[in-house]
This record gives sequence, C-alpha cells and structure tokens, in this order.
Amino acid sequence: MASTRPSWWLPTRAEAAHEPASYGLYARVVVEVTARALNRPFTYGIPDALHGEVQVGSTVEVPFGPRCLVGFVLEIVADPDPEASSHRLRPILRVLDPTPFWGQDLLHLADWMRRFYGCTWLEALQTAIPGPVLRRARAARTATRGSRPRALPCVEPVQAYPEIAPNHAQQLALEAIREARATGGTVLLHGVTGSGKTEVYLRAVREVLDEGRQAVVLVPELALTPQAVERYRGRLGGTVGVLHSGLADPERREQWWSLRRGELNVALGTRSAVFAPLDRPGLFVVDEEHETSYKQEGAPRYHARQVAFQRAARHGAAVVLGSATPSLESYHLARQGRFRLIELPGRPGGRPLPTVRIVDMRRHLRKGRLLSPELGEALRDRIAQDEQVVLLLNRRGFASFLQCQECGFVPTCPECSISLTWHRARGLVRCHYCLHQEPPPETCPACQGHRFRTGGAGTERLEAEVQELVPGVPVVRMDSDTTAGTGAHRRLLERFGSGQARVLVGTRMIAKGLDFPSVTLVGVVRADAELHMPDFRAAERTFQLLAQVAGRAGRGDRPGEVLLQAMDPEHPCLVAAATHDYAAMSRSELDIRREAGYPPFCRLVRLLVSHPDPDRVEAEATRIGSLLSARLRHARVVGPAPCPVERVRGRHRWHLLLKGSKVQELMDGVRNYLRPPEGPDLQILADPDPQSLM
Ligand code: ADP
Ligand code: ZN
Repeated sequence: MASTRPSWWLPTRAEAAHEPASYGLYARVVVEVTARALNRPFTYGIPDALHGEVQVGSTVEVPFGPRCLVGFVLEIVADPDPEASSHRLRPILRVLDPTPFWGQDLLHLADWMRRFYGCTWLEALQTAIPGPVLRRARAARTATRGSRPRALPCVEPVQAYPEIAPNHAQQLALEAIREARATGGTVLLHGVTGSGKTEVYLRAVREVLDEGRQAVVLVPELALTPQAVERYRGRLGGTVGVLHSGLADPERREQWWSLRRGELNVALGTRSAVFAPLDRPGLFVVDEEHETSYKQEGAPRYHARQVAFQRAARHGAAVVLGSATPSLESYHLARQGRFRLIELPGRPGGRPLPTVRIVDMRRHLRKGRLLSPELGEALRDRIAQDEQVVLLLNRRGFASFLQCQECGFVPTCPECSISLTWHRARGLVRCHYCLHQEPPPETCPACQGHRFRTGGAGTERLEAEVQELVPGVPVVRMDSDTTAGTGAHRRLLERFGSGQARVLVGTRMIAKGLDFPSVTLVGVVRADAELHMPDFRAAERTFQLLAQVAGRAGRGDRPGEVLLQAMDPEHPCLVAAATHDYAAMSRSELDIRREAGYPPFCRLVRLLVSHPDPDRVEAEATRIGSLLSARLRHARVVGPAPCPVERVRGRHRWHLLLKGSKVQELMDGVRNYLRPPEGPDLQILADPDPQSLM
C-alpha cells in the first residue's frame, strides 16, 4: 500500500534526520484538502511535547507534501495503522485550537454523514462546524496563540413572554414528549397554525433544562421571524443561543462557543443549527418539519430532520416534529405507530379558521386579468372597511415571459432550457437559473414579427392591477426583486405591519410566519400553479402552501376569508385545502404514492448526470442506467430521462431515480459500481432522499 503514496508525502531528508522513527501516540487526521481522492484520514505522529494537548476534535497544523495545512483530529491511537507503519510518519506541527471543536459525538455524526450522504470527511466536518468558527481557527495559524476573545454581549434585553396554562391537547403532547424522552422516541405534533405548538415546545424545552439537559430548536427561517427569538428568550431567558447564517461572524462564533462551553443550553436556529455543539441534548424540536429549507441542496445533501434523528438516537433524546401540514413521510410513519401522533385540533379560545372559497377561473379566461371579479370585489370591500389584504402569486414555472403575437415564439435562455422572465422595471429579459439577461428582442427570430405581448404574469402586473382597482391605496410588493438588499425584507414588512400599506402582494415568500392581526382577506391568484409540475410531491406542496397562506387570514378578532383562484376547481387537493382537510389530502396522495411506488413507500436516491454535450450526457446516463439495473439487487432503477429543466448554465442534465427500501444500500451500490467520472466535463451527483426533482 505504501507504494501508492506519492513521494512528496514522505518526510523530507532534513525532517527525517530530526524526527524519531516512532512516536508514543499517533493521530488520525482529516486534512483540509478538497480533492476527493484524498478523502481519508492520514496518520501523523504526536510529538512528546504535544501529548495531552492533542485531543480528539482538536484543530492542528500538519505538514502535507510541501505545504502546511489545517487538520482535524479524528482519533488518537497507540499504533499507527499497518499502512502507515512501513515508513516514517510526519509529526503534527502544532495545535491551533486547544479546545476540541467537539467530542466523539461530531465525529460519529460526520462518519455517518459521509456514508449516508456520500460526502467527504472534510465536507461533513465543515458542515457541522460553522464557517466563522473554522476561519478563526485557520487565522490562528498566523496569529500568536492567545485566549479567545470573550463574549460580546449580544443578548439584548427582551420582554418576558408570559406563561400560558396548557390546554388538554397541549398536556397530552407534553406527556408524549416526556415518554419519548425516556425512550428516545419521536412525537409528531400535528396542529394548524396558531394551535399552540410553540407553547408546547417552550414547555418541553423548560422541562429538559430542569433535568439538566439541553435542547436544539430548529425553525425554517429566522430572518423572517424575529418573533421566534423574542418568544424563546422571553420565556427561557439568557440560556438561549441563536445560530443562523444571518448573524455577523463574531456574533455567530461567540454564540457557537458559548454553546460549546455549556454557557448556553438551548440552540435556536435554522437548518445547520442541528449540529449545535451541545454535549447533553435531551430534545430536538423541528418546527414546520415539512419545509424544504431543511434539506441542503449542495454537498452534503443532508436533511436536518434526518440528522436530528441520528443525534437523538445517540443521546437518548426525544425528537418533536411539528407542522400544520406534516410531510407525508412523517405522517405515514406516525400512522404506522413508529412516531407518536398528537393532534392539536383547533386554535385556543376557539378562534375559527378562515372560510375558503374556490373561484373557477375558467369563466374568466377571456378577460386576461389576474384578479377575478370575485377577488377584486372582496379586495375593495376589505379596503373600504379599513382592513388589510394579502395577495399571493406563486410564480414558479409561470413567470411572465415575452411571446411573439404572430407565431407564439418565447425567448429562452441560451444556456438553460427555460423561458426568460420579463422584468418590466429593468426593461430586460432574464434567466432565473443562471441570471443571464438581455434586452427584449425587437423582431421575432422565428417569424420576423414585431409585436410581442407579455404572457403569464408576475407580481409586478398584479401590483398594477391592484392599484387600478383601489387607486391611491398603498401597496407593498415582496418578491426576489424587491427584497434583494439587506434589511429590505424587514423594511417592507414593517410598512405593511404598521398599517402604512394596506395590501401586500408577493410570491411564496409571503406565505410564511407573518402574523398581522388586521389581515382579513387572503387571495391566491393561481392556486393550482404548482399542481402540474413534474414532481411527485406537487400536490402535497400545493396543499402545504395553500394551508400556510390561508393561515395568514383572521389572526385577529375579525374572521378571515380566503379566495383560491384555479382553473381546476374540482381537484381533490384544492378541495381539501378549501376545507382544511389534511386527512383527505393525505389519503388521496398516499393512495397515489403507494400505487406508483414513491416515498413514503420506498426511499429514493436521485442521480443527476450532466455534461456540456447533449449526446454525451444521454449516452452516459443510459450507460449508468443499464449498469445499475444489472448490478443493484435491492434497487429499482427508473429512467434515465432528461430533467424537467434540461439545461442549466450550459450543462445538459439527465437523471435517474433509484428506488429501494434503504438509502444506505442504494448509496453503497452507487459507490461500489460507479467510478468517479473521468474528466472535468462529466458530473454525476447522488442525492439521497431528494426534495427537488427539477
Ligand atoms: P403555533 O405555534 O401552533 O402557531 P402558538 O403556540 O404560537 O401556535 O399559539 C398561537 C397563539 O395562541 C399564541 O398567541 C399563544 O399565546 C396562544 N396560546 C397558545 N396556547 C394557549 C393556551 N393553552 N391558551 C390560550 N392561548 C394559547
Ligand atoms: Zn440561463
């Protein structure tokens, strides 16, 4: 084996002269090199002077070829492995951060991530430890070693959030969580928005703290929901640490180290907070567990819920999943008895859910307007009564585009196979995948015609229609164009929250977490926009979005009303959304999934093959398909087929779905039978439990 090691790996002659032939102790170290071929721990000697200082989890500096690099100590062993023992080993040069980043726990988790998600050791470790913490350790290589700067006082005083006596359903939930804590089980809390789930989390966290253990609370989005931080700090006080990427580096680093040192005992944050460095976690809460933001779309493609299960199992901690619209995966497991299912049936105090009406848009097709007469009238009514209105236009796949009046030609991105979106304010058409932009065509390249019209429609046009209907009434528009700058989100929401603006128009980003009591009308312009996307979760996602946005209406004293405009008003998913009937949606969807063999009735790994040459990618995908079909005994191979979005940034994309009962088996098969692609042009990505199939 030693012969496979490149010569630069061996100690230089000068080094060899100074170093002992063997050491008392050795360390297995993951070095910061990104090449996948070097994705394994290397063995280094621990010089006597560093005994005791080098610990599992320490960051160290090690020689690597001609360079000195940062490494993470995975393991300390008395004997170097046989592979390493055949020649002299090089020593660890120094310890960069004497406090280990984390103990055995992280290393165990990183090892699992590496196998389950098919990522490298380095990717796993770099995901678990926040960037700012790592960068500081790296900077320590050049700085003189000193004590870490002390805590910045970043906890502003907050208002106390008063205790509320739990109702019967909440007491049942707390009882179930207590049991789960004793047995390391999972509780699925199914309750509509405003049914008191957060109150349950707060009490469960308090109980865990009283036991001397710690808690991790995950929320899908913190920048949009500052109330969450206020409520947790307001109830639990100074023991709550906040972790999310919106924090400034020093603050994030300080919060992390305070959790690491055990000065803070609750980690509240987004996806990556699931890695919070707590030694004694007794509870993991995943709020809005169905949210796709819990899945990371770059390597490692982890799902925070899955990581929470891993950590909880190791610590005998409870996992609490909460949602008004649980993912069908979680709901199915709960129905099978693998999770405890607790329903919070209504809003405390009996506040009613909003009434929902479906507007049949087939009758209004010819008028070419976004707002039906029904929705327009309701809007005018509410404004006249001094109330507020939210209008959602889910643009996905239906962005406004330019279309030739003569032949129907639509300009598409030269790099990606999707229509370019028309941005009136900029006077440009733009690709929403690669951001390519260009001026609108003057003549049609297909028929030389000169007249273009806007097809589809975006939030800009919706805003203009609203202004026509209720002239002079201030409107706030929220979409990726208006919220680009830092703080833009907050400013726009404040304008609406303070009552300055009366109508809020926006994309799906407005569906989440907003709590404005004087909103009494919610309109969804195209409730069925996503229903026909080529994704087996299309109906589930549509239901989730509609339930969520409907939850924005009637949060105050006045009852709320929701209007869903759709071309397919009888679709079971829309009917279920209109009657707040999660059970009906789950029944019909689970039947379809069982029939077609989709999750939760199997597990998936998606293989995405891409190459700049369309013929090459098709040939490669086909080759991979027949290879895996022949070799994988536990899998069914679906495809290959071109991805719904066939080209992104000049790369042609095909995909295959592997279906099986265990992700680990599928991933092992992929690793065993697919060699890493030769040449830089071909890319093969494996995505376990994929959330996106586009
Ligand atoms: P969710 O997290 O399910 O959206 P919350 O926990 O935020 O619901 O509760 C919604 C509202 O109901 C909050 O204003 C909360 O203070 C109130 N609430 C929660 N539990 C109770 C209760 N047992 N009695 C009265 N009000 C409650
Ligand atoms: Zn593009």
